[in-house]
Amino acid sequence: MIISASIISSNFLNLEQDLKLTKSAGVDWLHIDVMDGRFVPNITVGPFILHHCRKSVDLPLDVHLMIEEPEKHIGTFASAGADRISIHVENNPNIYRTIQEIRELGVKPGIVINPGTPVEALNSLLPLVDMVLVMTVNPGFSGQKFIPEMVEKVRNIKSIIVREGLKTIIQVDGGINRDTLGQVTRAGADVIVSATAIYKHADGIIEGVNELRNAL
Ligand code: ZN
Repeated sequence: MIISASIISSNFLNLEQDLKLTKSAGVDWLHIDVMDGRFVPNITVGPFILHHCRKSVDLPLDVHLMIEEPEKHIGTFASAGADRISIHVENNPNIYRTIQEIRELGVKPGIVINPGTPVEALNSLLPLVDMVLVMTVNPGFSGQKFIPEMVEKVRNIKSIIVREGLKTIIQVDGGINRDTLGQVTRAGADVIVSATAIYKHADGIIEGVNELRNAL
């Protein structure tokens, strides 16, 4: 099981210190939630912060773009150090081409599906990507409550992946903590994203990660 820590809940006034603690806690990837105030209501960070994450810590950078016209920005995120770039199926009529462009940049492409979007939206895209990210809350803010109906969605996607003999991995993002992660991992999730459970843990980042590992 891979844990991807979303820096959205970290302390940006001491980001480097938080990143070093994240690495020493044994987290596998860093998850960068990029929001533009248009595709989602919130605005977060851009390639500038990604570039500083790349310089300060040796962890794979897993970029989740929640922006309009992501195809215009993938080159910038790739140059800033992204190892993975995931784009939503909801807002991209030319998603097939964008996935190819991400791969041509030497970055692993992923696709993201919102809670209200049916699994059929992934049809024909699954073989093209390394990862599918199933949103377990509506994207926009950290600290939201996990939507339990998404467990069945993860199970459905896993069964398609197995049936078609694909290597695509499944990531879940939103409201994942020690109480919810068992449901999604049993349903087939390979990667969990966690923000609040790690960065807002009362006893600190290391204890937050330990608690997730123990719950697995
Ligand atoms: Zn995310």
